[in-house]
Amino acid sequence: MPNPSVISPEANFLFSELSSYLKREDVSELQNAYLFSQSAHSGQFRQSGEPYISHPLAVTGILGKLRLDTQTLTAALLHDVMEDTHVSKAEISDRFGNPVAELVDGVSKLDKIEFQTHADAQAENFRKMLLAMARDVRVILIKLADRLHNMRTLEVMRLDKRRRIARETMEIYAPIANRLGLNNIYHELEELSFRYLYPTRYRVLSKATKAARGNRREVVTKILDAIKQRLKLSGLDAEVTGREKQLFSIYKKMADKHLTFSEVLDIYGFRVIVKDVPSCYIALGALHSLYNPIPGKFKDYIAIPKANGYQSLHNTLWGPFGTPIEVQIRTPEMHRIAEAGVASHWLYKSSDADLNDLHMKTHQWLQSLLETLSDSTDSLEFLEHLKVDLFPGEVYVFTPHGKILALPKESTPVDFAYAVHTDIGDCCVAAKINGENAPLRTKLRSGDRVEIITASHAKPNPAWLNYVATGKARSHIRRFLKTMQYEESAKLGERMLNQAFSSLKVDLQTVSETQWEKIARESGAKSKKDLLADIGLGKHLPAVMARRLTAHPGESLAATNGASDVITILGTEGMAVQFAKCCRPIPGDSIVGFIKKDQGLVIHIQDCPTIAKNRGGADNWLDVAWGKGITRQFEVSIKILVANQRGVLARVAAAIADAGSNIDNVVMDGEGAYTTMTFMLEVRDRHHLAQVMRGLRRIPEVARISRMKG
Ligand code: MN
Repeated sequence: MPNPSVISPEANFLFSELSSYLKREDVSELQNAYLFSQSAHSGQFRQSGEPYISHPLAVTGILGKLRLDTQTLTAALLHDVMEDTHVSKAEISDRFGNPVAELVDGVSKLDKIEFQTHADAQAENFRKMLLAMARDVRVILIKLADRLHNMRTLEVMRLDKRRRIARETMEIYAPIANRLGLNNIYHELEELSFRYLYPTRYRVLSKATKAARGNRREVVTKILDAIKQRLKLSGLDAEVTGREKQLFSIYKKMADKHLTFSEVLDIYGFRVIVKDVPSCYIALGALHSLYNPIPGKFKDYIAIPKANGYQSLHNTLWGPFGTPIEVQIRTPEMHRIAEAGVASHWLYKSSDADLNDLHMKTHQWLQSLLETLSDSTDSLEFLEHLKVDLFPGEVYVFTPHGKILALPKESTPVDFAYAVHTDIGDCCVAAKINGENAPLRTKLRSGDRVEIITASHAKPNPAWLNYVATGKARSHIRRFLKTMQYEESAKLGERMLNQAFSSLKVDLQTVSETQWEKIARESGAKSKKDLLADIGLGKHLPAVMARRLTAHPGESLAATNGASDVITILGTEGMAVQFAKCCRPIPGDSIVGFIKKDQGLVIHIQDCPTIAKNRGGADNWLDVAWGKGITRQFEVSIKILVANQRGVLARVAAAIADAGSNIDNVVMDGEGAYTTMTFMLEVRDRHHLAQVMRGLRRIPEVARISRMKG
């Protein structure tokens, strides 16, 4: 086992390499982080048997090659300590500063989510989720370097694990590296994934390429010399190299374009680097005078850069033996971006760049891309994604089956439910987030696993409109409430009218359809049902409307105020019937109904103090009574005075739950020996409430209980 307080030769080698571009104090900061990480990981080993510290060290080396800043490198050394060694974020922040702690925390969060399904669209969403979760691109850079080192050392893993990791790399991480313009990392990730996903194909291709290389060497040297000579003749100082093809890119070309191995391999690749943009075009012209260009193959990525910022001239020419040769021409600056992509903007600068500065730079980078981009919808679309990703406006969450949904920021489980299916939205009653019960108004975060609990009788709640974020949820809730209100109002209106008719000693059924139509028209309603809904909503008084409906010659208008049928309230009337917030009536209470203009019927307790004040206007008051077989729960408010003892709230809450009641809300007030707790509870009726109160009285600390009515 290594001595945790000694820097290994490998580490020393890396630090001396890094000191070529880092300040001395930065290197010694890295050495501290290394020693801290080494002792945190001490006793841990990689699958290969090496001490664990070799992994973070290698990851740091990969990022050092990209010449990244000290914060990134420090975080790379520490990237696994939170996951594997119980070192806290606070401790990292104390020792190495908050930016480093944030980076390590970001990487640890990404490690926790696992990619499950393999549909293309899902892979795309998953990539976006990763990017959205990493508020700082450097988190992604560390994650990519981490993955690259794990891929380089995949050999020691079990076969099934190798395949899983290789597939995930191919589908998720390689495309991200490509998007960010990290060409070298992208190609290596792809090549390694190919090797472990298709070991046989990889082996065959690898053997064939090695065999072909010998024959090719002569041709390559010949072309290389010719190109160099011609460029010199044109007065250009150029660096010319032959390019080896990646096995995976050979394989892809064979598969996509149905070419044979020799057809693909017989394309030779060369790269020309010249000092500036004009020289690129001069070099192109020079090469055209050497070999004939193949029509339709020229691509000017200098004038129109690729979406990830890549710039070069690409062309394919007819080589000396009738074989095609591909040439890339670029400047050193373009080369740097081609190799390091987004990371080239995080290059170590001697001035201390803070996080805002870095964000700003990314933004500038995106801006400059935007300015130089073609109108190619592809690129623009990609850029849109990249912007969303780096400055997230969306959250990505899992369904219980591992599918990923993209929702706007601030979305809640209700939005999620409607996004899954309208029926699920309409019937949702509760939610679980990451396995734990959570209120429906909870704001979702990327990576959350959301489960919706539905009930067949449930209906959308108007209160949801206060917090839903998606247009879909909002419009569905609105539409539902509107139709419900109409249906319920019409039903209630009919019951109210029936009552009015029976006090006139007339049967509602005797009113003719023509009479209905006439009165409806006169009242500004479109139909009989409309008129009933208007009555239910309190736009017309039922007594007045009853008289008008029966008023035709020959009919007695002698209205007697005889015993009238009362309107029964079931509690399922929805928006048409409201229960007064002042007294909160529950089944068993004596109640009275009040018709409020445009709001329908409001139910109060008979002795509600609020209504005692304004009992006038007899036409607005209706006799109402509770119906039978009511199943829903009603809100009721109770006040409890308790002696202050440890755990008394828990005992009170338990007693309420034991009596089968839900707590909607609790407010506590008072200090000293006693506290007043005001609970909003859900109960079925007075009987149920009495049961709850009995349970509460058994608690010794409870001094007084009362129901609040206004
Ligand atoms: Mn790692």
